[in-house]
Amino acid sequence: MSDKVRVASLPNCDLCAQNGVQTPAWADGRTLMGQWANMCKIHFATYGVGLGTGRGQQLVLAEAKPVDILKVDTYEAWMRKVNRVLAGRVGLTADDLEDFDSWSCYDSGMTPEEGAEECLSNSDTYSMWGE
Ligand SMILES: [Zn+2]
Repeated sequence: MSDKVRVASLPNCDLCAQNGVQTPAWADGRTLMGQWANMCKIHFATYGVGLGTGRGQQLVLAEAKPVDILKVDTYEAWMRKVNRVLAGRVGLTADDLEDFDSWSCYDSGMTPEEGAEECLSNSDTYSMWGE
């Protein structure tokens, strides 16, 4: 048994809860009274019997994977939208404009409009035309 356990969310300290206080628990451990409880750091220091087998485990919040809500499109669908914006703006597609790191733009969560903007600003061809 490890001294630490990964949890998706921290439970509240059981001892604080008895006083009507909600405090995230720091460890799940045995108390001096013999019962096991989720304890905050202060209560663990007061009532805990230490970490380790048969004593307790520190609760470590597992890193939640950030859900990328911006990426609603697949790369292909995103590129089609970028090209639609480009076609409307300059009558070209990303294939006609060089130096467009489309994957980075998509991967960094840009909207198709922002991607098209980036594509145009990176393109020497279009910059020349723009002058
Ligand atoms: Zn507590």
